[in-house]
Amino acid sequence: MQELLKNWLADLNGKNQNTYKFALQLAILEFSRDQHITYTKIAHFFAHKYWDNVVAYNLRETTNIDQAPYFHTAIYHVAKSHKLEGLYFHQAKRKLPHLTELILKQLPNGYNRALQNPISRLQSNSTSVKTGSGSSTGEGWLFHWDSSKELITFNAHFKNLIQENSVLLKKLTVFHWALFIERYNQLPSVTSKLIDKNESRTIKKKIRDLVIEHAQGQCFYCEEFTEVFDIDHFIPFAFIFDHPLWNLVYSCQECNRGKEGKFEKLPRRHFLNKLLLNNRELVNNSALAKEYFQKNNILNEHIQKTYQNCINAGFKTWEPKRVKK
Ligand SMILES: [Zn+2]
Repeated sequence: MQELLKNWLADLNGKNQNTYKFALQLAILEFSRDQHITYTKIAHFFAHKYWDNVVAYNLRETTNIDQAPYFHTAIYHVAKSHKLEGLYFHQAKRKLPHLTELILKQLPNGYNRALQNPISRLQSNSTSVKTGSGSSTGEGWLFHWDSSKELITFNAHFKNLIQENSVLLKKLTVFHWALFIERYNQLPSVTSKLIDKNESRTIKKKIRDLVIEHAQGQCFYCEEFTEVFDIDHFIPFAFIFDHPLWNLVYSCQECNRGKEGKFEKLPRRHFLNKLLLNNRELVNNSALAKEYFQKNNILNEHIQKTYQNCINAGFKTWEPKRVKK
């Protein structure tokens, strides 16, 4: 166990230009039940993992401003050319079932070449065995790899230890990944974004009811009246990862997730003024809302700053196609 931790940490602490090594470590944890992992499986894992980071969260994951990592570039390209910007992986995949294959096809020299670097570099920081950093075959403390067979094969001893300690190793890895990302991004809740998104997207009933009652059936964005609605996160949930009352509005489903819908985009700036106004009315009309705003010390300044941070993080802006005249 001690040796496992020492080696794992050594790999985490190496010099990194991007976050591929962390993604590879998470892939290893994910598939550590098997004796071998194919490069295809790892490539699929990368495509899925990085889609949310790149498209839904707009995370920057490289020390090099001029060139994004290959997986990121491929994902940008697919998101843009198929109009999937702002969507989570599972939403995008519903619209485009072959999403993963399309991403992998966009990698300049194929996924085998894209993965060769992180796979061959992963174990080179450990004080162990023969590695072949950059080479197509090699062997480290945890696995040996062969690019021609596109296969990673585990050392049986460590494979079992990894399974026993996978929860701890995952948290360690996500923590180091988050540290890397925090250096280059102004984003809240980085760790929550990297660990599996099992946390609930459910909004408390009391809060929900406040928003519904206040809206009186009118969509915040297009101002049409409708009984069929969503409670929308004005500043995308993908950015703030929380459900504060000040950020929730009543939205028709066309605006929220219709053909030209908002999804995880940011409403244009004139809607920000409307949001602040809407919040003021909410506070004036409801003692419960007033108490909430006072207790949480919500100031317009804070909301404006969060809005600006979201723009700085690269979130796309949006406005509804139809607006009631
Ligand atoms: Zn609407």
